[in-house]
Amino acid sequence: MASDNPFENAEAVLFDLDDTLMRSTYADTLAIHCSIDALRQHQNIEKDDEDLRGMIRYIKKGLNRPSPDSYLFNELLEKLGIGDLSLATRMGIVYRDVVVATMRLYADAIPFLREMYSIGVRTGLVSNGEEFIQREKIIRSEILDYFNTIHVSGMKDDSMKKPYTMIFDRALEALEVSPDEAIYIGDRLDTDILGANKAGLFSIRILREDGRYNDETEENVFKNANWEQEYPNIEIKSKDELKPKMEINSLKELMPYFASIEN
Ligand SMILES: [Mg+2]
Repeated sequence: MASDNPFENAEAVLFDLDDTLMRSTYADTLAIHCSIDALRQHQNIEKDDEDLRGMIRYIKKGLNRPSPDSYLFNELLEKLGIGDLSLATRMGIVYRDVVVATMRLYADAIPFLREMYSIGVRTGLVSNGEEFIQREKIIRSEILDYFNTIHVSGMKDDSMKKPYTMIFDRALEALEVSPDEAIYIGDRLDTDILGANKAGLFSIRILREDGRYNDETEENVFKNANWEQEYPNIEIKSKDELKPKMEINSLKELMPYFASIEN
């Protein structure tokens, strides 16, 4: 019996946040739509919505500020040749309000975290992103107390981000567990799965019904990712390093494995 359960020795479960526990992309996409609507109410712009969304995503990627909303839209307006700080701020407010109003945990998140707590499996969050933004999401969704440890990469030091192993190592150290006693659940192959595999954790890819990266495969990520630019010095020799140990659609699928564990 014991050998049938890959989690027999599991002491800890670590999670990605966005699109793993929380419907972040959905909220972000909706918020960007609404802020573009706010822009159109105040300005005639020749570009179509898709172009504008592309520009916003591009600027967003390059921003390293704690609360980027108004900065983000100000940079967009500058690119469009519009100098209007009030409009940028207005768009920032719309974006923020919509994100806050629509960001939700997936329905299985709290039941699963509760189950881990009740059977004595320790939990950790390992997230790439800006410290305060990620913590705001955790606090607003009232899951702070479900984690034994929280590790957010911050934006300053790339070596702290997934797929580099340092952030996983620190989380394991804080939980006092070894990599082979830990599971990592995330939605992205090039950050979550690659990083967890490199750090020696049992990697689980979660494919949510609205998952942003569901179409990605080990083959196309290995081939198409801009490794040098996105993750300098990462060593990746084969697509197999991007392969999760398990794929799930919902955290519920893991419950039966854990139900049989005595900790
Ligand atoms: Mg994610």
